[in-house]
Amino acid sequence: MKRTLSLILVLSMLLALLCGCMGGTVTEDALPDADEPAVDTLAPAGDDTNAQEETQSDPEPVTPPAPQKAEYTIKSAIYREGDTIPEGYTTYSGVVEHLFFHPVIAYPEVAFSSYQAEGLDDWMVTVGEYVKILESVYEKGFVLVDINDIWSEETAEDGTRRMVKNTLLVPEGKRPLVFSYDDVNYYQYMIETGFTHKLILGDDGLIWSYGLDPDGKEVISQDLDAVTILDKFVREHPDFSPFGAKGCLSLTGFEGILGYRTQTDRDNTSAEFEAARQKEITAVKPIVEELKRTGWTFGCHTWGHINLDRVGMSTITDDLTRWTEEVGSLIGETSVIFYPHGARPDGNDWKNTGEEFRYLHSLGYRVFCSVGINSFSYIKDDIGAVICDRLHPDGTTLRSAKSLERYAQFYDAREIIDLESRPVREVGWMS
Ligand SMILES: [Zn+2]
Repeated sequence: MKRTLSLILVLSMLLALLCGCMGGTVTEDALPDADEPAVDTLAPAGDDTNAQEETQSDPEPVTPPAPQKAEYTIKSAIYREGDTIPEGYTTYSGVVEHLFFHPVIAYPEVAFSSYQAEGLDDWMVTVGEYVKILESVYEKGFVLVDINDIWSEETAEDGTRRMVKNTLLVPEGKRPLVFSYDDVNYYQYMIETGFTHKLILGDDGLIWSYGLDPDGKEVISQDLDAVTILDKFVREHPDFSPFGAKGCLSLTGFEGILGYRTQTDRDNTSAEFEAARQKEITAVKPIVEELKRTGWTFGCHTWGHINLDRVGMSTITDDLTRWTEEVGSLIGETSVIFYPHGARPDGNDWKNTGEEFRYLHSLGYRVFCSVGINSFSYIKDDIGAVICDRLHPDGTTLRSAKSLERYAQFYDAREIIDLESRPVREVGWMS
């Protein structure tokens, strides 16, 4: 009995300590696991004394256990001729479906009563809708693969470098699926309209989101952000990601990345600004590292979210140089670019290869993603590049009668859309 009591006391001390380190009110689900071994290390040896007395006589702070990161394995899904096909797996050379999301709405009541309500209704899904989509694609037999596994650059017979589509390995009966996420920057306007504020590393070594609830209370959670929700889903359903892939995070740079204000300001070159910026850079690095370690990859969304079809060459070079310096320097090399607004450079980049496209190619981009009505992809034959479209689960497609059919292979929009939370607007499949 005494032992149980002291264990409970030590446990609550440990939890209080962990919450203290996380800095604020924590939702119930947010309490990092206090594993048995951690308690063992904290419990005094041969503990027969009253734990209360023990604490009073020993004010020394207890050191929290070091984060114990679970092993995370990332494997290639690429099948090459002659490879042995693992038991239970088969090869796949069909269309790899590609869905993209924006950050998900954590607090619909805030988002849909804000000045951004219509735009958020058009282009975002809520946390509840997102979870239902994950459950549905999982039930329908999709498995996540890394966008970087779909195509490879190879030397053609004439010596030129060209992209080729890879044959993939998938568990029997499954279909590969890519997820990408645009604008994972935690823009100021999103912070004000019902989204989480940033990704953070918990004392348990896992990625959590930080934000404020509608009452202004700090919330650290894994249930309010697209990244942490998918992390959790894969932990609970490891067969959804047989190769360890998660999604590709598409980043701009004008408000930093992942909720950290790492951007420069050409109007403010003060030492104070730079010092603050360097602090943010230091803070975001371990987040980037942990995301990469657990299957996330990164892509470019331009620094300033520029419309590549409208701005001129000098704006493009200035913007992309800045992206490479301020974002590329933090996330490493990437060969994937996601067009802001879905706007293709050179008018129509799958027919033309103009100056703008060649410039982007010269920076190392090989996979050029837009947005469309299916997971179209096209390998260009005059330059080593792939053009591809992505489908977009959001308010526009959830409400649309045409999209109801297009997205039926992933989910039934009628079961996903949260009409109670969303603004009263037209729903195509209802009329
Ligand atoms: Zn965007």
